Amino acid sequence: MHVSEKIFYADVAVIGGGSAGCSAAISSARAGLDTILLEQQTTLGGMATNGYVSGLAGVLEGNAKEFNDKMNAKGLTKQTPLCPIFDAEKAKLVLESMVIGAGVRILYDITVYDVVTENNMIKEVLAYCRGTRIIVRAEYFIDGSGDANVAAMAGAPVAHGNGEFSGYSSASSLHSRVVHVNFSKWQAACDEWIAKQIADGIPENSRTSLMYEQIKKALANGDMPKNLAAYMRGGGGRLVPGLDPDIEHDRTVLWILHAYNCRNTDVEDLTRQLLEQHVQITKSEEFFNKYCAGWEHAKIVSIANMNGLRDSRRIIGEYVFSGEDLAAQRKFEDSIARFDDMFDLHHPVTPGLVMRHSHVRKPGEGTGFYREAQCDCDMHPFGRPEGYEARTNPKAWCEVPYRTIVPKIIDNLFVVGRCFSADFNALGGIRLVATCMSTGQAAGVAARLCKKNHVIPRKLNGKEVHDYLVHEEGVPLETVYGRLAERERMSGEAFVSPADSIKYK
Ligand SMILES: Cc1cc2nc3c(=O)[nH]c(=O)nc-3n(C[C@H](O)[C@H](O)[C@H](O)COP(=O)(O)OP(=O)(O)OC[C@H]3O[C@@H](n4cnc5c(N)ncnc54)[C@H](O)[C@@H]3O)c2cc1C
Repeated sequence: MHVSEKIFYADVAVIGGGSAGCSAAISSARAGLDTILLEQQTTLGGMATNGYVSGLAGVLEGNAKEFNDKMNAKGLTKQTPLCPIFDAEKAKLVLESMVIGAGVRILYDITVYDVVTENNMIKEVLAYCRGTRIIVRAEYFIDGSGDANVAAMAGAPVAHGNGEFSGYSSASSLHSRVVHVNFSKWQAACDEWIAKQIADGIPENSRTSLMYEQIKKALANGDMPKNLAAYMRGGGGRLVPGLDPDIEHDRTVLWILHAYNCRNTDVEDLTRQLLEQHVQITKSEEFFNKYCAGWEHAKIVSIANMNGLRDSRRIIGEYVFSGEDLAAQRKFEDSIARFDDMFDLHHPVTPGLVMRHSHVRKPGEGTGFYREAQCDCDMHPFGRPEGYEARTNPKAWCEVPYRTIVPKIIDNLFVVGRCFSADFNALGGIRLVATCMSTGQAAGVAARLCKKNHVIPRKLNGKEVHDYLVHEEGVPLETVYGRLAERERMSGEAFVSPADSIKYK
């Protein structure tokens, strides 16, 4: 067999050009390291852009802030307090200009399929591009593949999904785009529906959405299969900014569906999820046109070219960030990122449920909210966990330590983004785009410090990474400002909302 071959050399090779990988490559190159970025797709951004996620949640600091500012300056975002929404197509180009601008060499259309290790070090990664074998040799490797592909191939310990749910991952969501939605008309119909329920004396936690009501009608009329109706209960829409000439009446909406019982590294199951969601997309369009005011002329125009996997494989690293850390808003000396959002677990097996809490054995020492486990079998079909339900406190935030991006066993690898070292529940919260970018930024910095100090990532003092981020990169990890300061000032009585998160009255 004849295989043509190309060999590349770099100080740092980043595998995966998602939000985390781009951020890692940018900071590595800015720190003066010769950096190469390998990406399977033909554009950057991964789930955030090619998966159409289009939301930039998390604490916007460092590279995440820079990206948001650039998008905002071009009018390509809709700034909301917790999750700016952006135009995913233009975001690919903005990220690319940031990566190229930092001096990174990009290789697109290339899939890493194996690694060669020697004495616990990765010597090279092997990739494939249209019949050509690509070999990339580097001193440090950063796995930004979202699936910990490099870590797993190198033999670093990894975990999958949630043990409580037979190892299934969170429900996954393929996104599509719908055009020609008269959103004002739809919003008015939704408001009317809520007003009617209030007038009928229906209590807040028993009220339904208009979408849900229309799904029930479609089901009763035989226009929607039963299991699809159950799946669509968890569907949702998001307005895409920057695209529409008539922003009142003719809008583009991002539509989000769900597949359950997901095994996110199994080719047959991944295909099953996609086939199922393709049918959902087809049926959705028929349903919108017939049942939803303002959606009469709606058309699906595009389907994301990455399946919306919320989690798959993740490393078990030097520190496993836990649901308890998140709920208790724990702080770390070697912090590389801050997180002030909530648990967001799309139930692995039960359509329509989102879990905003984690179960812990005992209440943590921080400022989280705990109550004895009360969940029913919808939440935990295989048995109610003992202990406490823990929710995050909207008044505070937690920190992510450096050690979560350092895998065990392999000595020249960092793992960033949604496959870093966290337990299932914690990852359900912390996998936000801004946090992924922060983990990437820290890895680029850490690679520089390892090279300078002649130490392996495991031996690098994480406090040095923290200090470099603060003093050299200007990431204000030690300053309480903006939204974090506002959170601290919140007052009122806390309660568990019908949506299972903590709110203040
Ligand atoms: C449905 C859904 C909704 C979400 N909503 C939000 C939200 O509203 N706000 C928010 O902030 N976050 C949200 N998230 C989370 C967030 O989008 C992701 O966690 C984040 O984008 C992951 O970034 P990443 O860089 O770690 O991984 P990815 O974006 O998955 O990037 C991995 C990259 O690696 C490449 N790659 C993989 N394997 C290889 C290989 N072998 N060789 C070469 N390249 C490879 C992929 O092509 C990809 O580009 C959502 C996620 C999902 C799935």
